[in-house]
Amino acid sequence: MKKMISVVVPCYNESEAVDIFYKEICRVAKEIPQVNFEFLFVDDGSRDDTLEKIQKLHKKDSRVRFVSFSRNFGKEAAILAGMQYAEGDFVATMDVDLQDPPELLTQMYDAIKDNKYDIAVARRVSRKGEPPVRSFFAKIYYFIINKLSNVKMMDGVRDFQLMTRQVVNAILSMPEYNRYSKGLTSFVGFRVKYIEFEHVDRVAGETHWSFWKLFIYGIEAICAFSTVPLVLAAVLGVLFCLIAFVMIVVIICKTLMFGDPVGGWPSMICVVLLMGGLQLLALGIIGQYLAKAYLESKHRPIYIVRITEKD
Ligand code: UDP
Ligand code: MG
Repeated sequence: MKKMISVVVPCYNESEAVDIFYKEICRVAKEIPQVNFEFLFVDDGSRDDTLEKIQKLHKKDSRVRFVSFSRNFGKEAAILAGMQYAEGDFVATMDVDLQDPPELLTQMYDAIKDNKYDIAVARRVSRKGEPPVRSFFAKIYYFIINKLSNVKMMDGVRDFQLMTRQVVNAILSMPEYNRYSKGLTSFVGFRVKYIEFEHVDRVAGETHWSFWKLFIYGIEAICAFSTVPLVLAAVLGVLFCLIAFVMIVVIICKTLMFGDPVGGWPSMICVVLLMGGLQLLALGIIGQYLAKAYLESKHRPIYIVRITEKD
């Protein structure tokens, strides 16, 4: 029996990119004739005619399937839905804007087809064309998250990968609400083959990530894969208690020996502000984790489907 690769493609307002992507992926599919393909588009509540474009493709080509959300739930939700709906023996996830060059699929398939590897992940080796500030922060970010978390996050790794059914099932066995795909993939382990490529610009449309959105996403990833910030908060607390204790002793001795000249009001305000700030910071860190636990405990669905190709 011929095996099947499911290509999961999250799309959010990508009306211009869908057709270009389809042409490209069909070309690549022809290059791997030993497997069947299904192209599973996940419409993440687009407000343009992305869904209509996908439906048109489905009428023309039965390999095209789709799931459409009731609203925008985010890329992570779209990837999850795609993995749950995919029926293939292998599942690939890739962006619709061709920033994940589909022709890498051939190499990916070669890597995992005879069980030498279980998952092939694309890794961008250059960040050419990206604003330098963004690359700079990305570098710092990866440094920090790798220090804080046991799960290794590689710089440049994309949400573009081809996995065996076994890996897909392992990832799906984690029902968490706060999903960070790169972390989940790294967490499940298995034999990973990194496939390197150069940065490619978007074919159409524009990115959905603002700096602020990326920042929030980054914080969430840290919360999801590390509890070290909680420890840091506690360590800071202990450290400042110690400093305060030493200072109290010093001040008492000084007063006893030299009397009590009133002074040092400004320095006192500084200390008060510093302590206040640190307390708020620690509270904020605890609050982040509490918020995550709160959201998890509600067991809300990660996405809601409005229509699929079977409706
Ligand atoms: N995407 C999505 N939901 C969102 C945002 C993005 O499904 O809320 C999809 C988008 O259509 C694209 C992929 O995720 O296929 C990557 O998005 P984008 O190109 O904006 O991210 P970048 O490549 O700049 O990191
Ligand atoms: Mg992109």
